[in-house]
Amino acid sequence: MLHVRGRVLAGDDDVRDQLWVVDGRVTFDPPRGRRSADVVTLDGWALPGLVDVHCHIGLGADGPVERDVAERQALADRDAGTLLVRDAGSPADTRWVDDRPDLPRVLRAGRHLARPRRYLRHYGRELADVGELPAAVAEETARGDGWVKLVADWIDRDLGPDGDLRPLWPDDVLAEAVRTAHAGGARVTAHTFSTEAVPGLLAAGVDCIEHGTGLLPEHVDEVARRGIPVVPTLLQVDQFEAIAAQAVRYPRFAERMRRLHARRYAHVRDLHDAGVRLLVGTDAGGTIEHGRLPDEAAEMVRAGVPAADVVAAASWRAREYLGVPGLSEGAPADLVVLAADPRDDVRALGHPRAVVLRGRVVGTHG
Ligand SMILES: [Zn+2]
Repeated sequence: MLHVRGRVLAGDDDVRDQLWVVDGRVTFDPPRGRRSADVVTLDGWALPGLVDVHCHIGLGADGPVERDVAERQALADRDAGTLLVRDAGSPADTRWVDDRPDLPRVLRAGRHLARPRRYLRHYGRELADVGELPAAVAEETARGDGWVKLVADWIDRDLGPDGDLRPLWPDDVLAEAVRTAHAGGARVTAHTFSTEAVPGLLAAGVDCIEHGTGLLPEHVDEVARRGIPVVPTLLQVDQFEAIAAQAVRYPRFAERMRRLHARRYAHVRDLHDAGVRLLVGTDAGGTIEHGRLPDEAAEMVRAGVPAADVVAAASWRAREYLGVPGLSEGAPADLVVLAADPRDDVRALGHPRAVVLRGRVVGTHG
């Protein structure tokens, strides 16, 4: 049995003094009849296990990775306090993770859907014909855990020196694809860097936006009004300058990526100020290391989002959005215990005293 004392941040307006973990579940009622020798006490600031809504377990820089590497990725996430992952597309079958009580819970989006030469090689599932998208969405809906991931834009190198970000899918195909996912009970999220892909995504009824660097003010208002979350992935956008530097043959693209990079903090602050629901995603897997959710949260605070909102977004608000319980009576005990209040200083997220997954202390960091 665990006894967590101090402050328990269970929700925006739900702060308590203590909780207990009995048989892997949260209770706020002091258990009776237990010998104190059986109780492990954790002191500090507790909050529901962190949520990385955009990372890729099973994906490395060159595509799918072996199971031992995927396992290390999941462990790195866990040890950083990330106990729930919405996997934003993986070329590897990671279903085995579900049988491992020591690894984070994963909600999968299946394989992300892209086109040949219009995304990173070996990352996504590449459809030769755009008309295949709705059928592929139906298949990935069946493979995933309630999510489908579309790559909505990428550089089109066939344009030669004019190569720049362009939508991958015609609007009507996109609309049918989203309808297909919804009919199958899945929500759709979409990778988008550009402005050009945004109107089609909104018209299609996309549920969530990844990166979202190209949203213009008129899009931002609509996204806010419709409650569509945006996952800013600032660690990823930080790489845009380096991507531009490599794109010497595509000056338009390079210029755009530099512009998006330069505006990244102001852009995220604008999203927040407009009332857009922001979620926290590292985009780990590929080129970014797993376990960096606290760094992404710190980037969002640097952009000007209040730490209290970032912490909520990285924890209970993301859980609520994904339909996974936080710290409520009887919920599975997935929580982190910190030395200080992360709403005062978000860096506290980076130094968990204890990580508790399914009621077991899986990591202590002193
Ligand atoms: Zn990604």
